[in-house]
Amino acid sequence: MSVIDDVKQRLDIVQLVSEYTELQKSGRNYKASCPFHSEKTPSFFVFPERQSWHCFGACGTGGDIFSFVMKKEGIDFGQALQLLANKAGITLVPLTTPERQTQNKERERLFEINEAAAEYYHHLLLNTSKGEIARDYVAKRELSAEIIKNFQLGFAPEGWDTLKQYLKGKGYGETELLAAGLLVEREDRNNYDRFRNRLIFPIRNIQGKLIGFGGRALDDSLPKYLNSPQTPVFDKSSSLYGIDHAKTAIQQKNQAVIVEGYMDTLAAHQYEYDNVVASMGTAMTDKQLTILKNLTSNLILALDADTAGEEAISRSGEMLDKMLPVPPSFYGWVRYEDAHNAEVKILILPQGKDPDELIREDASQWQKLIMDAKPMVDFIFESATAKVDLASARDKSSTVGRLLPLLFEMNDPLRQAHYLERLARLLKVDEHVLDDALKKFRAVERKRKATKNTKAFTPVVPTITSSSPQEQYCLALLLKYPELKAASSVLSPDHFENTENRELFVKWQQSDDMASLKNSIDSVLQEHLESLLAKDLPPILKESETARCEDMNQCISRLQERRLRNLEAKKQELLTMEAETGGRTAQLAKLEEQGLEIDKQLQEIRIKQNHRRRPARGDG
Ligand SMILES: [Zn+2]
Repeated sequence: MSVIDDVKQRLDIVQLVSEYTELQKSGRNYKASCPFHSEKTPSFFVFPERQSWHCFGACGTGGDIFSFVMKKEGIDFGQALQLLANKAGITLVPLTTPERQTQNKERERLFEINEAAAEYYHHLLLNTSKGEIARDYVAKRELSAEIIKNFQLGFAPEGWDTLKQYLKGKGYGETELLAAGLLVEREDRNNYDRFRNRLIFPIRNIQGKLIGFGGRALDDSLPKYLNSPQTPVFDKSSSLYGIDHAKTAIQQKNQAVIVEGYMDTLAAHQYEYDNVVASMGTAMTDKQLTILKNLTSNLILALDADTAGEEAISRSGEMLDKMLPVPPSFYGWVRYEDAHNAEVKILILPQGKDPDELIREDASQWQKLIMDAKPMVDFIFESATAKVDLASARDKSSTVGRLLPLLFEMNDPLRQAHYLERLARLLKVDEHVLDDALKKFRAVERKRKATKNTKAFTPVVPTITSSSPQEQYCLALLLKYPELKAASSVLSPDHFENTENRELFVKWQQSDDMASLKNSIDSVLQEHLESLLAKDLPPILKESETARCEDMNQCISRLQERRLRNLEAKKQELLTMEAETGGRTAQLAKLEEQGLEIDKQLQEIRIKQNHRRRPARGDG
């Protein structure tokens, strides 16, 4: 038995969830207001017999005890395993090497040093005469005492060794202070305080650990903003300022707003817009997106009016490509939004204003901008058509050429129709003309695909036996044939019920290749990965791309079908139970409606399966 199974056997999901939210018995199951989004009628259910949970409301997702604590605590799989193993009274065999243990100790020491520095800076800001210059500054920027305290703002005074002397007095050595990035070493091996005459912003990670600092100059010194250097605990590209404070609000509001600077974040939080984090001046990175993706699929990017032109499209295009579990393709993100029920919006700031100024001027403006934030597609449409010369046929035609693939990617016919009409209006072109162009594009795409798929195909029967053979077969396919990644983008972690499989799938989605996948996983998963890689797959797959694609499609539709069936079973259970205990609630009616939706989706999958089977049989 794996340690994961062991943990699952010893812990009860009802008890675990009760530690976070109050559960109400409902027949054999339990319900509660969803701990991940705000709602009035409970749509969050715990199923003790299945040891699983599901939110039938806005989240539309579920899982086991692992996914629950990962989502609730905003932690990764390894950390969840540690936490749950502790609860279960299981001591994890130290899987880490002695070097790793030493590293962990060093990291803890750096956190401790950072905490000591932050406390000192905070004290200097609040209580000393030296700190007056910084107090004046925060007063001018209208930061409240509460925000200053909550975000532990501080002041690094003029002078070369104020912090160094203080921390040495506390028993920390210069080597450690250098490692923490608090001191800078000169060529002659002497060192001095990195932050001088600056307002200090301590930067914490999602677990609240103090990883580094930002400092704003209080005079004309350059750079205006200075950050901690890369250290064993600080990496600017994987940090989001304010994430420790914003985590809960992002989950509750099921939305994250991304701004650029420290002051923007603070102003927003001061006015209780507490789902705001800052990318700290850099363009969003993969690592930052991964942190946010664990909390919500709704992102709003606040962009300057001046940068939000053509340049921003390409910038956000790049950024969105990074969110995708498929290899970069500018338009692939529409597929991503479809598959993951995600939405990315763009908020354009008024010319020359940053969020900090804007919120302080009139906080309600911010709310309005959030409400007016445009879905990415609208934004791209408008920006792409803004400069088109409507008198030039060539201009129009090249714009249509750029935007058609985007329309083509939309799975939802309503969404497609909506944007088709939109584009027609923007370009002052007859809608039928665009519709024809789209049809032609579709035909060309189909032909392209068909010529790829002419070889005869023999259906392959997976032979792997294990607890969830379908999942494992699917994963083995994906791991051995990375080119199937694009085709698998319709799968979400929810399609995998087995904890190891799901976690491996998530990590695989986030990795570029096998090496980075191996690097990113715990040793528990490492073993699982090796066993999947060792699976024998049918030899025909090696030779035929068609066979691989077809196999992948079969896997996908089986997993989709199974997920829908399970969902339906859960709903039926809830409906029967509620009917027995009396009263139809509005919530119930909604469940029934969703039940119909499931039926429809199941039917669609079956039709697709039949379509695929027919030519195969004809060929054989
Ligand atoms: Zn929910």
